[in-house]
Amino acid sequence: MLSVCQMRRIDLKKANVARSNTIRDINRQIVLNYVRERGPISRAEIAHETALQRSTVSLIVEELRVDGLIEEVSGESTGGRPPILLSLRTADAVAIGVDVGTNRTIVATSDLAGRVLQEESFETDPDAEETTRQIIERARKLIRRNNETIEGIGVSLPGLVHPDGSELFVPTFNWRDLPLSKELNEATGLPVTMDNDANAAALAELWFGRPEIREVRDFILVLVEDGVGTGIVFDGQVYRGENGAAGEFGHMTIGQGAPVACASGSRECWEAFASERSALARYKNLTRGLNGNADVTFSTLIDSALRGEGPARQALKATANYLGIGIANLIRGLAPEAVIVGGPIVRAWPVIADDIKTTVETTICRGLPSTHIMASTLGPEPTLMGALSLVLASKFASVSVT
Ligand SMILES: [Zn+2]
Repeated sequence: MLSVCQMRRIDLKKANVARSNTIRDINRQIVLNYVRERGPISRAEIAHETALQRSTVSLIVEELRVDGLIEEVSGESTGGRPPILLSLRTADAVAIGVDVGTNRTIVATSDLAGRVLQEESFETDPDAEETTRQIIERARKLIRRNNETIEGIGVSLPGLVHPDGSELFVPTFNWRDLPLSKELNEATGLPVTMDNDANAAALAELWFGRPEIREVRDFILVLVEDGVGTGIVFDGQVYRGENGAAGEFGHMTIGQGAPVACASGSRECWEAFASERSALARYKNLTRGLNGNADVTFSTLIDSALRGEGPARQALKATANYLGIGIANLIRGLAPEAVIVGGPIVRAWPVIADDIKTTVETTICRGLPSTHIMASTLGPEPTLMGALSLVLASKFASVSVT
């Protein structure tokens, strides 16, 4: 059952005096989340599970239907009239997600359940104005195509993002204080929410990830791509820290002489040892002098490893070992219930899982609680789900959380 009572200490600087409809708002979110997670579900079942009055449930359901969040569907008949059940309304595209990657940028729509409906992509241009122009063009097209059902735009960026979207820094392209959020808002008239890619992917994992993760309230998402980023979830929400700068563990010092430099030019950072680029550099070293390694990509490297090719497996396993070292440090410091590894590397899980887990087990001192280490189930593009979640999660999140 969902817990209404969160033992979070009240921050008197931020607390609003409870409005008379606060309880009603909370109950509304509870009913909505029952439909989201357990639907199709009947009004009677919701009343039974929540111990809310049947009449209260009916009133809330009516409100959620009018707002277009849920709909009635027919259940399986067991002889008589088929029961009327409630389900999340998924007829329309309601969110646009913009996933700005270091190579490609994806602009996509999804329904309320997070199903991607339309998707377009282009090569990210190092020129910020050009990338912004292309994003706006595609967002406008998708808005037109959907007859104004889109309610908001979420943007995930491979860099630092201030929670209000006003300041950001994308080291790969040296973008600073990019007015993307403002320009996108002005061009579309829609609210725009922006966040760091790993934070956004962690949010997606929390709301749209595998069921066993949705039950976990403290976890860390390790996003492995061109760089390594982490999104920290504490008590069921993303921990952003001062100015949104938390989670930069990709730049913690792991050692010296990494195979590549991190996005800021250091060869001592975790991402210099554990990113896709580091795996590719290891592979090229291992196959130096051999033909055919010039146009290898991270994706073809995984293909080769899954086929059993020695150097490809070796390059990925060495990378997994460094992933394990960094994850062990995170576990020591934060003791999360779970660590989730996300990004394209997840496809190589059969090759790397044991190496990651063994390194973590042998590195961590005994006596610490064991942490589950698992692969993300959000597919190869968890950051696109992240961008969409920035819009979708706000519809389901508890109103008491600001
Ligand atoms: Zn660094």
